[in-house]
Parts: sequence; structure tokens; C-alpha cells
Amino acid sequence: MLRVTLRPSTSRILARYARLQGVRGLATAQEPYDTIVIGSGPGGYVAAIKAAQLGLRTACIEKNDTLGGTCLNIGCIPSKAMLNNSHAYVEAQHDMKNRGIEIEGVSLNLAQMLKAKEQAVTSLTKGVESLFKKNKVDWVKGTGSFVTPNRIAVKMNDGTETELEAKNVIIATGSEVTPFPGIEIDEKQIVSSTGALSLEKVPEKMVVIGGGIIGLELGSVWSRLGTEVTVVEFLPAIGAGMDEEVAKSFLRIMQKQNIKFKLSTKVLSAEKSDGKVLVKVDAAKGGKEETLEADVLLVAIGRRPVTTDLNLEKIGVEVDGKGRIVIDDQFNTSVQSVKCIGDVTFGPMLAHKAEDEGIAAAEYIKTGHGHVNYQAIPSVVYTHPEVAWVGKNEQELKAAGVEYKIGKFPFAANSRAKTNLDTEGFVKFIVEKETDRVLGVHIIGPNAGEMIGEATLAIEYSASAEDIARTCHAHPTLSEAFKEAALASYDKPINF
Ligand SMILES: Cc1cc2nc3c(=O)[nH]c(=O)nc-3n(C[C@H](O)[C@H](O)[C@H](O)COP(=O)(O)OP(=O)(O)OC[C@H]3O[C@@H](n4cnc5c(N)ncnc54)[C@H](O)[C@@H]3O)c2cc1C
Repeated sequence: MLRVTLRPSTSRILARYARLQGVRGLATAQEPYDTIVIGSGPGGYVAAIKAAQLGLRTACIEKNDTLGGTCLNIGCIPSKAMLNNSHAYVEAQHDMKNRGIEIEGVSLNLAQMLKAKEQAVTSLTKGVESLFKKNKVDWVKGTGSFVTPNRIAVKMNDGTETELEAKNVIIATGSEVTPFPGIEIDEKQIVSSTGALSLEKVPEKMVVIGGGIIGLELGSVWSRLGTEVTVVEFLPAIGAGMDEEVAKSFLRIMQKQNIKFKLSTKVLSAEKSDGKVLVKVDAAKGGKEETLEADVLLVAIGRRPVTTDLNLEKIGVEVDGKGRIVIDDQFNTSVQSVKCIGDVTFGPMLAHKAEDEGIAAAEYIKTGHGHVNYQAIPSVVYTHPEVAWVGKNEQELKAAGVEYKIGKFPFAANSRAKTNLDTEGFVKFIVEKETDRVLGVHIIGPNAGEMIGEATLAIEYSASAEDIARTCHAHPTLSEAFKEAALASYDKPINF
């Protein structure tokens, strides 16, 4: 039986809090928490729900006024709302005519587009709230920090303070924007992804620092809405982590969509002047310095783990040189009974990776077993066309000396893509030379983000290319290009 010690004043505060919330009380001496999760992003909220479903008495401490973390509030969801709706705008302007649909006087109502984004965010964050209620997860509205490994002090958002105790704690405090040294973000003119999701006016010119996923997605949004976008990237390629062949093709497509790129280029400084932002850049390998003028500068150079409020030093949780909480393969930190998942620890900073870790961490607590296959975590860029991949890329396999074969199939030869007048891109399979086992799948094309699920399943189950090519795929679908690329990796494709 767990022991929970609450000061009388704390008990009163909790009882009052519970009455105000209209939910049952938080922990009591008779009914202590088995698990407390700190942070309610996709890692934390999923861990909390899973723990509760496994019969563990669970609370989730979240300092924001809404649940869902970065992903639901300022990340995946609002960015996809803007990507979807800005794409619809471009289609209405330039594409519908070809399809026999005449639309007169298409114009942008940015305020409404932002409202639609907010509606998506609100409905999903409220959705998590009702899932917490349904699964009897207590939402503790405040900032948590460790007093001991099993006791958390919470500064409640209403100004009160309390302490909670639990047998297990899962840290899921996520990540925040990495600042660019010397460039101060005001979220109006010099913005991070957060500000870039809420600009009230379409800027004439935007400079984006960073050609990674977030920079390219948000650069695409504003370019579609009429902004002249220039992406400055230190590396010689965009889309860090992508297969090189796909990255080259992606660059060409983005350039055709009027986004300008300055690759192998270093940003030196940025300063505001006369309502503009002046961005000084330099060719990374010692070229000419130049100044780019922008109405808005988007800094998108990555994200860093958030551990600031946790008081980790007090309980001795180990953190590495990059600020990530160190864990073993069962999500245990260096302190017994404290686990950690999501962006705040190792691995790709992706919502679905955090979610899967949340489930596994809860399962480890309850049953001693859990599972996340880090070889089968897909990545998606939600531009148009989308880019999606899972498993190894060519450059990784070459570096590791693995012998492989390639199978490719262009969407230009796929009946559905042709029917939809949306034929840019291809599917690329990389399979083990000896066995045809699928090592990696890389897709650039319409709906790549949905199709990558099939590739992920194939890798999860160690499928061979032949397993896929012999599986019947519906006609006419884009997924036939997927099947044909699998076929092409060990035999000849039929339709190309
Ligand atoms: C613009 C943008 C677009 C993105 N698009 C995608 C995408 O399309 N697909 C994808 O997979 N990923 C995407 N991501 C990344 C994704 O949002 C993150 O990987 C994911 O949110 C990480 O989840 P998490 O649970 O680890 O942490 P987070 O979502 O960061 O949540 C952590 C939570 O912990 C809370 N917290 C922190 N400290 C405390 C404390 N001491 N006490 C109480 N609460 C605390 C924070 O308030 C926050 O709510 C995107 C990110 C951005 C910025």
C-alpha cells in the first residue's frame, strides 16, 4: 500500500481544488497515486491515459492552461492546419481551373484561416481533457518540481502550492525552441515557430534560418500565402536526415514553388531597422558576406530539452551535455522510480515517438515489459508533395558497409496520381541485397505521410520486398506505387 503524507493545509487546498474542478479529489492517504506524469504533451498525456487504463492511480501535472503540450498547442496540429488550408488556397487559385472548376475572385481571409487553426487546436486540447476525465486521470494544473524522487512540489496555476507523492514518476517535460545566439525572438518580427503560426499579416519577405522540417513547413505556408521566402541553411542540403536523393528532389520541387534557398550559408547576425529585419549571412566556406532584408525572420534551428523547473540536481537525475535526461532502454533515469520519455530525452523529437514511449513506460511500470522499435519510427514533412521516410537511408547504409538494392517507382506512372493530376515524386525502397528484407523506404509524393505507415509495418515485422509486392493493393490507389517500388527492388515493375 502506498503512503501519501499531505500536510493538513495541503489536503484542504486539494479538496477545494477538486470541488472547483468538479472532479473527484487528488490523492488521499487511502488512495495514493501509483504514477505521476509531469507534462501533458503527446508523451505525457498518452503515458497518463495508458497508466490509468492499466489500473494505476494516475495524475498528470501540466503548467499550461491547456493539455496536449507543444504538439497540440504550438506544433504538429496548428502547423498542419495552416499547411492544409494554405494548400487549399493555392489549389483554389491555380489548380481548380485545370480540373474544370472556375472560381472567381479567390482571396485570402487570414483571420479566418488563423481561426480555423485555433478551432482545431481547441477541439483537440479539449479532447485530451475529456479523455483524462473518461480514464480518471487527475489533471494537476501547475508546475512540478522534485522534492524527493517520490514527492513532487506543485506551484499551482491559481497561486497555491501543494505536494503530491507517488510510487513512480514519469518526466515528460518536452522541448522548447533553441535560440540563435545574439538574435532575440519577439514573436512578432523575429519569430520562432510559435510566432510564425500566428502572424496577423502576410509578410512581403520572410527569411527562414534552418532548412529542417519546421523551417520548410512554415516557409511553405507563408510562401503559399504570398510571401517571398528565402531559406538560409548552414548545411549543403535541406531536410536534415533525409535520403540524399530524396532531399535533392525535394529541393528542386520547393524551388519550383518559388522558395529561394541559400545553402552552405551561415547567418552571422540579425537586427531590426526601420520596420525591417536585416539578416547578415556569409557563405559557410568563406564566401561573400551579404545582407538579406526581411519583414519577418523565422528562427527554426531546432529544439532543446526542457528541464528548468524540475529541480533534477536535488534528486540526482543525470543529464547529458545536450541537456537531455539520460535513460536506459526501459526509460529509467539514473534515479530509481523516476522514468523519462519524449523530447526531453534521447531520440528524434517527434510526437509519435513520444506517444509510443509513453505507452511503453506505463507498461514497464505495471508489467515490467514494454516495446518501442527505434528502427521503425517514421518521419514526415507535410509540405506538398509530402516527404516521408522510415528505416535507413542510402548514406547511412554506405557508411555502415551494408550491401543493398534499390527499387523505385515514380508517381508519374501511377494511375491514381495521374487521375488526380498530382504526379510529382517517387517511392524508393532500399532492401538488403541477400535477403530482400526492407531496410528503408523513402517517399516524396502525394499522401506520403499516410503511405509510410505501410512501410513502418513492413520494417516492424521484418518483411521482405516480396512480401509487400505479393500483397494485393487496391486499384486505383497511390499505394500501388508503393507495391511497384517494392517489386522493382528485386524484380521488374509492371507499369514502368
Ligand atoms: C512547429 C512544430 C511542428 C511540429 N510538427 C510535428 C509533426 O508534424 N509531427 C511530429 O511528430 N512532431 C512534430 N513536432 C514535434 C512535436 O511537437 C514534439 O516532438 C512533441 O510535442 C514532443 O512531445 P513531449 O510529450 O515529449 O513534449 P511536449 O509536447 O513539449 O510537452 C511537454 C509539456 O510539459 C509541460 N511542462 C514542462 N515542464 C513542466 C513542469 N515542470 N511542470 C508541469 N508541466 C511542465 C509543458 O508545458 C508541455 O505542455 C512539431 C513541433 C513544432 C514546434
